[in-house]
Amino acid sequence: MTTGKMLPMKVKVLTIFPEMFPGFLGYSLTGKALDQGLWSLEAVNIRDYAFDKHGSVDDTPCGGGAGMIMRPDVLGTALKANYDGGRLIYMSPRGEPLTQAKVHELSRVENMTVICGRFEGIDERIIDAYNIEEVSIGDYILTGGEQAAMIMLDAVVRLLPGVLGNSESTENESFENGLLEYPQYTRPVVWDGREVPEVLLSGHHQNIARWREEKAIEITKRKRPDLLKKYLDSKKV
Ligand code: SAH
Repeated sequence: MTTGKMLPMKVKVLTIFPEMFPGFLGYSLTGKALDQGLWSLEAVNIRDYAFDKHGSVDDTPCGGGAGMIMRPDVLGTALKANYDGGRLIYMSPRGEPLTQAKVHELSRVENMTVICGRFEGIDERIIDAYNIEEVSIGDYILTGGEQAAMIMLDAVVRLLPGVLGNSESTENESFENGLLEYPQYTRPVVWDGREVPEVLLSGHHQNIARWREEKAIEITKRKRPDLLKKYLDSKKV
């Protein structure tokens, strides 16, 4: 019988540092969600699939150059043994940039396998053979894919049903409507001579909504003109 209930998201991570997981994902909302079974996480050690007694997973680049490349035979064997369908992602600086829209899309996936690179990355043939989707968390280089995978998973798990309480709606957050968030305040109403904007204490919902929209546009214009342009273009009919 179908209950309409979503299955928990199943995540497998392929890494040479399985002990790094769940790391910070074990804390706060994502950790609670893990304990509650709203998602599951299995860290697979790529080294377990190495062929020699040293557990070597990398070799020098063909054609020369600095650093080491993760071997396709070892990674391929690890994939064969662990990839059971679903979304297959390699964290990579040349991947599709992670955005909140992409995070939403990934939060609807039931089954995800994430490959974390180390050294100078992985042999290209693995990407070709499995038609692997590459995701980047930004235009900078990390030492490994584990950090990137954790950041991506943090954002994705946050959106899984039941992870945020009803009171913690994501609707008005930065990027959700194409704008950055408006400024937020809490008590005390006066701190160090600085007052909370009066409109927020007025109880007038329409005025508050208008003020927040104005501020969101103002802040986006100042800090991220690229986002504002996209927002205004999308409003044009
Ligand atoms: N030589 C590669 C960088 C290797 S960095 C290049 O120039 O593109 C080592 C590993 O860290 C990568 O295999 C990848 O898994 C991860 N990584 C580094 N920066 C990343 C980023 N911005 N987004 C996602 N993963 C990243």
